[in-house]
This record gives sequence, structure tokens and C-alpha cells, in this order.
Amino acid sequence: MAKIKMNPIVEMDGDEMTRVIWQEIKDELLSPFVELNTEYYDLGLPNRDATADQVTVDAAQAAKRLHVAVKCATITPNAQRVEEYKLHEMWKSPNATIRAALDGTVFRAPIMTSRIKPVVSTWEKPITIARHAYGDVYKATEYRVPGPGRAELLFTGENGESFRQTVYDYECPGVLQSMFNKDSSIEAFARACFAYALSEKQNLWFSTKDTISKQYDQTFKFIFQDIYDREFREEFEAAGIEYFYTLIDDAVARVVRSKGGFIWACKNYDGDVMSDMVSTAFGSLAMMTSVLVSPDGNFEYEAAHGTVTRHYYRYLKGEETSTNPVATIFAWSGALKKRGELDGNGPLADFARRLEEAVLDTINAGVMTGDLAALCADPDVRKVSTARFIRAVREKLDS
Ligand code: NAP
Ligand code: MG
Repeated sequence: MAKIKMNPIVEMDGDEMTRVIWQEIKDELLSPFVELNTEYYDLGLPNRDATADQVTVDAAQAAKRLHVAVKCATITPNAQRVEEYKLHEMWKSPNATIRAALDGTVFRAPIMTSRIKPVVSTWEKPITIARHAYGDVYKATEYRVPGPGRAELLFTGENGESFRQTVYDYECPGVLQSMFNKDSSIEAFARACFAYALSEKQNLWFSTKDTISKQYDQTFKFIFQDIYDREFREEFEAAGIEYFYTLIDDAVARVVRSKGGFIWACKNYDGDVMSDMVSTAFGSLAMMTSVLVSPDGNFEYEAAHGTVTRHYYRYLKGEETSTNPVATIFAWSGALKKRGELDGNGPLADFARRLEEAVLDTINAGVMTGDLAALCADPDVRKVSTARFIRAVREKLDS
């Protein structure tokens, strides 16, 4: 059979165990069926170091040009990695660099199979979390107050001081924190959420604590509502989906009682915490997909997990590993599906869907990697190595 042709996507290679799996997926599951057309960027740590991280910047620019990218997990260097890889510098997280360049929002969703039941028994469909990855407590200014004194909030406008308010008159030591956000970032977040909801044909929920935070969180609420009304309401109604705002406390209660199948937009901290809660409740970090969406419609797909270092060290010793490749396969299928959709390339999008079905069929037939086998008590389950799992998926694809 002739291989499927495609327009180029950006391919960002990565590190450690996921780099090994990356190549296996291409060789076994993609190249035999698709004439893979990628603009390749090696974001592996040695090459980031050799290029003074320019390769990450170039890859992000390429993602803006080609609109679709797929990324392997990469090491975010810390002091130990600087030593291990003899780095010239402690390079920034590639994900942070790419996110900043695309002004993007990250959407994380679990891959569900009939074998692994979510902890919350009512969940029938995935819940996608959209996290506003800018500002708030992650960019806060903090101060350990040494003793009695006054803390004030002061804003100096371009034309001089315009706001001053006492935060607290300390009578003893304490702590102090100030954080910020800005309309342009909240607007980009809102647009990415509405655009993604339309692209997935799913309802969008948004929650904050606006009853308590009457300036800060209310601003988020108002900006979302305003952009929805002016730019997206008609398209939402035409698509038969809805935008729904509620208080964060109410949202958590509704989420737990829901059937799933919607996108939940969260402020930065809420998204950090809730995405861990949701991914754990759905089963395994290794089954979480992640896509970075920019407000102007660029998509970067990846797995939510890291480079699985502990497995990699065992692999280097020659041991067989049972690392789960599913989220990485879905990163590829997500990117190919999006390329197919954007270009009207039906065969490519169909192939991506068949690849996903082949993965799910394999797991549902009881063939899975160790992390999933540990969650599944069925007597017919077979724990297999990464390579065997990928071969089993290939057999399903071939048939
Ligand atoms: P991790 O790579 O996600 O792995 C943490 C643990 O989760 C693993 O040791 C393993 O548990 C389990 N796990 C994760 N993915 C798995 C998979 N596909 N199959 C089976 N088990 C899986 O997180 P980490 O160890 O904290 O970080 C390792 C490196 O990844 C770090 O250098 C970090 O900077 C980087 N990282 C990159 C990204 C990214 O590029 N998006 C995200 C997070 C972390 P067991 O060992 O118990 O089997
Ligand atoms: Mg977290």
C-alpha cells in the first residue's frame, strides 16, 4: 500500500527513556504507514547545551510557522543535571520557552480505556484541564516580616502614585505576599480556551474565587465573559456547546459528580493542583496527554509525563523496561490528526484515529505495560515490555 503523504509538522526530540521510545514509535508505528514529513529539532539536553539553547527558540518559531508540532519529553536542568551532563549553563525549561513564545495554554486530558476504571465511578469521559500558566503565586513577591510594622500595597502609575492601601499592621512577625496578573495574558488564556472548546466540541467550564477576590478573580471572570459574548457566543451556539462559569468550590463538587467530557479552565494554582488530582483519579500519569494551544491557533502535542529517568537508568544497564509509551503515541496521533484536519488530509487524520484505536484495543485485550497492569486486577492481563507493547499495537494496525 502507498504511504500516506502529509505537509510538514515540527518534530522536537527529547531525552532519556522517552527519546528511546520516540524512535521506536517512529520506526514501528509511523514510518511504515506515513511518509513522515517533519522539520526536526533535537531538543535533547546535549544539543540544547551545544547550541546555547538556540535550538529550543528555533523550534518554537517553527511551531508558529507550521502551526502543528509534536514534542518528546525533555530534561529541565537542575544542579544535578548540570553536573551529570557537564552543562555550560542551567538552561531554562524548554516547555517554558515554547509556552512563552506561543503565548499558549496547556490542555491536559486522560486517555481512557475500558480496563482501568477511574477512582470517581461516575466519570465516563475524559476531563480536560486548561491551566493558565502565567503569573499569580508563581511570580509572587514574598517577604518574611521580621516584626511589628505596616505593610502597604502601592501602585505608582506613569503619572505618579495612584493607589496606596494598608495590607496589615503587624503586631508580631509574619509573612507577606503580593502577586499579579495582566489583562493581555488573561485574554490570551480565555481565547485559547474558547478556541480549544470549539475545536474539541466540548463544553467549557471556568471557575475562580470571585466572591472573595472582588478585583483580582472578578477580572478573570469578566474578561472571560466579555470575550465569550463578543467573539465566541455565536460559534458556541452553532456548535451546540456552552460556556459555563461557576465558583471554584461549586466547580469541584460538580466535577466529582459529573460524567466528564468537558474542559475545565483553571487559574494557575488551581490548574496545578487539579490536574494532579484529575490525572491520578483517572489512573496513571503515563496516560495523560498534553497540548499547548496558542490563541492564534498553533498546536504543540506532547505527553504530560517526563523523561522517566528511573527507567532509563535501568535501560542503560541493559535491563528490559516496561515504560508506557501511550501518551507519547497519542502526542504523535494528536499532531497528525490536527495536521490532517487543518489541511483537509482525510487519510492522515484517519490513520491517526486508527493508531489510537489500535493502542486502546491492545490495552483492552489485556496487553499493557507495568504501570497499567498494577492498576488492573483482571486475571487475563499480561504485563509486557515497551517494545512488546509497541509490537502488539503494530499487529493490530497491520490487521
Ligand atoms: P517522570 O519522568 O514523569 O517520572 C516519574 C515517575 O512516574 C517515573 O519514575 C515512573 O514511576 C512514573 N512514570 C512517568 N511516566 C511513565 C511512563 N510513561 N511509564 C511508566 N511509568 C511512568 O518525572 P520525573 O522523574 O520527576 O522527571 C524526570 C525528568 O523529566 C526530569 O529531568 C524533568 O525535568 C523532566 N520532565 C519533563 C517534562 C516535559 O518535558 N514535559 C515534564 C515533567 C518532567 P516508577 O519509577 O515508579 O515506575
Ligand atoms: Mg502540580
